Amino acid sequence: MAKTSWDQLDPSELARQQDRKLRKQIRFQLYPYSPFYRRVIEELQIQADGFMGVDDLQKLPLVDRQALSSNPEDFVLHPSRPLIQRWASGSQLTSIFFNKLLKGIDDAEGDLSNEYAAVHVLETTGTTGEPLPIKLSRRDVAVLATEGMRMLEVAGVRTGDVLLNLLEPSSAGGFWPVWLGAVALGAEQTAPGFLEPEQAAALAKKTHASVVVAIGQDALLLLEAAGEGGLPALRQLVLGPGPLGPTLRKRLAESAGPQVRIVGTYGFAEGRTLWAECLQGSGSADAGYHLSGDLQIVEMISPRERRGVRPGEPGEVVFTGLDHRGTALARYRPGDVAMGGLVPGRCRYCGRLVDRIIGPMRRSGNLIELQLGGEDLMAVDVETLADALAHPALQAWQVEVRKSEGDPRGPDELYVLFDPKGKKDPGQVAAELDRVFRTEIGFSPTQFVLSNRAKGGVVDLRPIPVEAGSVLVSAGWHEDSPRVRLWRTPNPEELGEPKQN
Ligand SMILES: [Zn+2]
Repeated sequence: MAKTSWDQLDPSELARQQDRKLRKQIRFQLYPYSPFYRRVIEELQIQADGFMGVDDLQKLPLVDRQALSSNPEDFVLHPSRPLIQRWASGSQLTSIFFNKLLKGIDDAEGDLSNEYAAVHVLETTGTTGEPLPIKLSRRDVAVLATEGMRMLEVAGVRTGDVLLNLLEPSSAGGFWPVWLGAVALGAEQTAPGFLEPEQAAALAKKTHASVVVAIGQDALLLLEAAGEGGLPALRQLVLGPGPLGPTLRKRLAESAGPQVRIVGTYGFAEGRTLWAECLQGSGSADAGYHLSGDLQIVEMISPRERRGVRPGEPGEVVFTGLDHRGTALARYRPGDVAMGGLVPGRCRYCGRLVDRIIGPMRRSGNLIELQLGGEDLMAVDVETLADALAHPALQAWQVEVRKSEGDPRGPDELYVLFDPKGKKDPGQVAAELDRVFRTEIGFSPTQFVLSNRAKGGVVDLRPIPVEAGSVLVSAGWHEDSPRVRLWRTPNPEELGEPKQN
């Protein structure tokens, strides 16, 4: 029987594979060989043997960038001979035994080094600005090649394509999954690193590149530099991870012409790979990035309450590698929020059966979650809020989020304090802003409050005291800066322990 392709596995079969791989990863890799996970599993008194699968994953704590940055070596698998003898699974020991028998001790040690010794280090930037190394073994590089190849397939790149890979090898921006993936796929690839746009355009013409891989801005500059006649061989742009808003996409499409498909990607260095936007759906808001369910598990949690969210609800990405050696991560939070959440089931664009992460992607630090009555939490991006309020009729504005009647467990209320320009009718301006809020953000503020500073004002315009049970998310009047002055009342746990005096 032919092997079922990675993206066509029946959901129940995929779930079985995920359970089995996760069980193995935790019981035979993380617990015995990862100093960090061994410690947390022992501290939490979880039975590693009792780890049956994905349902047990939430027993492990969430790990953020700060924890990884503070001691990256703590997350690297370090097997030693005594640890292997104690912890390796029966099949691992049998394979080591037969390798010794057949190939001699040196080769058996060589197999271990192949599996665990770091050969490739991705440098990303940690929370303190210090480089954060992500280590890969030879085995990991092989897995990454598979992931890269799948990513290119999702993006519509085919064997025989001619790639110009303009991502930079030194950065964590996805160069390696593209490079390795193209090798695995059998596509011709030129990867020159950084080039000026004119040089890049000349190289694309000379190589007859059918696919250009670059970050969005670089791709735009290249297309503009290509000038009249453009790049006749080009049929595909694959963009490195980074914001790909409708404006940039539109400019790229105008410069590239209708014969060129544009596909975005998402990824973070700690997860090693990139995930490509579904080619068939590319450009649609719900196209999403196809995951490899047999190689990783992505959970979505509410950034504020840290509980799982439902399919399609905005959520923060939590990543678990199912097949990692080197720097091996489980329940890792890169700090990204998918505004469209995670959508399982058959993709309505391409028919693949693997989950999709639906963007746009936002940094979790830019998001606040609001519960405006009703059950549903809503994630609101501070920048989107600022955009919605960058209205020509406004001289200044301020947004404040409060808890209803000061009850920390009660619903949130969002007030927009505004100062209209000139003699604009405040009622009309408020109605217009309300319309913008409903279409751009999806809800109406609790109240619009006129804050006419010119007339001395009815509204208190002093900065709202933060100690009054509020958290300052971001500050600044629209007039002076495009950022939002935004407070919200925190949950009791966010306030931390009361100060001991
Ligand atoms: Zn698809």
